[in-house]
Amino acid sequence: MSQPLPRSSLPPWDDPLFEAVVAAAVNGVMAIDDRGLISVFSTACESMFQYRRDEVLGHGIAMLLAAPFREEYDARLVQFQDTGKANATGTGRELTGRRKDGSEFPVFLSVGEGVHDSRRMFVVVVQDLTGLQLERAIHAEQRSFLAAIVDSANDAIMSKTLDGMITSWNRAAETLFGYSATEMIGTPIIRLFPPDLIGEEAGIMKRVRAGEAIEHYETVRLRKDGKPIDVSVTVSPIRDSAGVVIGASKTVRDITEKKLAGARMQALSAELSHVARVNEMGQVSAAIAHELNQPLTAVLNYTNVAKRLIDSTDPAAKAKAYEAVVKAGEQALRAGHIIQRLRDFVEKRDSKRTFEDINAVTEDALALGLIGTRADAIKMTLVLASGLEPVLIDKVEIQQVLVNLLRNAADAMAQSERRELTVTTAPVNGTWVQVSVKDTGSGVSEELAERLFRPFVTTKAGGMGIGLAISRSIIEAHGGRLTMVPNPSGGTVFQFILPATKRMVD
Ligand code: ADP
Repeated sequence: MSQPLPRSSLPPWDDPLFEAVVAAAVNGVMAIDDRGLISVFSTACESMFQYRRDEVLGHGIAMLLAAPFREEYDARLVQFQDTGKANATGTGRELTGRRKDGSEFPVFLSVGEGVHDSRRMFVVVVQDLTGLQLERAIHAEQRSFLAAIVDSANDAIMSKTLDGMITSWNRAAETLFGYSATEMIGTPIIRLFPPDLIGEEAGIMKRVRAGEAIEHYETVRLRKDGKPIDVSVTVSPIRDSAGVVIGASKTVRDITEKKLAGARMQALSAELSHVARVNEMGQVSAAIAHELNQPLTAVLNYTNVAKRLIDSTDPAAKAKAYEAVVKAGEQALRAGHIIQRLRDFVEKRDSKRTFEDINAVTEDALALGLIGTRADAIKMTLVLASGLEPVLIDKVEIQQVLVNLLRNAADAMAQSERRELTVTTAPVNGTWVQVSVKDTGSGVSEELAERLFRPFVTTKAGGMGIGLAISRSIIEAHGGRLTMVPNPSGGTVFQFILPATKRMVD
């Protein structure tokens, strides 16, 4: 396609090397003489403007420009002819080129001046900007798309340099912190940190510099009005095109509501558990009186015996009286223990987890759970596994679950001929500890089994129907599971598992 230049139009730099360079250059090269006529038109120019060199040489540059730029170039030429200066304002500019077929495209013309045969001339380097413009348009679109996302996000989003200076600040950040973007950009991010948490920033930036992201880190930041807010922060490194970390982007979510809701839920569920426990024990107040009656009667008997013995002249009486007083003391202690256990159980209290032996917890719960049930009519079997790992639990809550299961089992067996209650503890897979309560009661219909753990589901006249719902939520809050399976020999088995914990220190 490239034809040899007519001899007359060759510049003085007509050595073959220069010609080869011009021919091979990606950007087009043109020369325009002082009459405004094209005297050099490189191969790249040919493919950009789709003119063959011989169609252009000796013509004015106007044919290569879109309409609005032609006049300007004519004026520029006049200026050049008058002053000898090709360019008054700079080295080049963007304008619209015109191809042979009339189509237009963006070009960048860099213009310089030269001298050939002691005549001045323009030397024009032509760069086709089509690809670049497309890229710019895509970039601009991507940027505005991303900016729109960032601006419409509910989370505060900001970016900062590696030395902690804020470089961007979205609308949600303005709302959350009360500072405008102009107030924040270019200032240090630690303005948002409460004084006692300023140390956090160094740790965050150390991890970011190492290319690490920090996800959902819960902390506290300060609003412009000085009010602290609970936030969850996610920080990710920002890298340049070479992959080098140059800053960090930060997403900050206000979790005040979540925290409040969590605290409210906790208070509510503690309240509900308490109500359930009081309810559980309220139902058996008569039975409690009976339970206490036994040791108290014994105390009375022993003290009467002691009184008589003290008055006696029998030489062995003193030792016997002593023995009776000791026994009276033991019975008083027993009564005290019963009351203490009940008080612990129904007392309003904060949740507290400690390492416990599930066998001991189960035995304690049995003492409480069977009060007032016709325990004498129930055949009770206790199978405790030895060597169980401890469990990290709120003892009263787990006892509450057991008491509920035991009382339900006793209720279910009230009308049964066989009344067998089997309570078993066992390890499961080495990672769980299981407790099961098996009865030979009425059993649960399939229809009821589906709803059993929902609140207010009861088949009992005076039932509240919250026992199993609360029990399940207690077990799940401990990371365990509470389920019901039918007892193959009639009745049901309620069982729960709790995560076994290996003690860090013995
Ligand atoms: P409540 O005891 O107040 O009814 P629960 O949530 O403890 O509340 O129990 C809900 C229902 O589940 C009971 O009313 C009963 O119908 C059924 N249920 C619970 N445990 C057993 C059991 N061991 N055998 C048969 N039915 C049971």
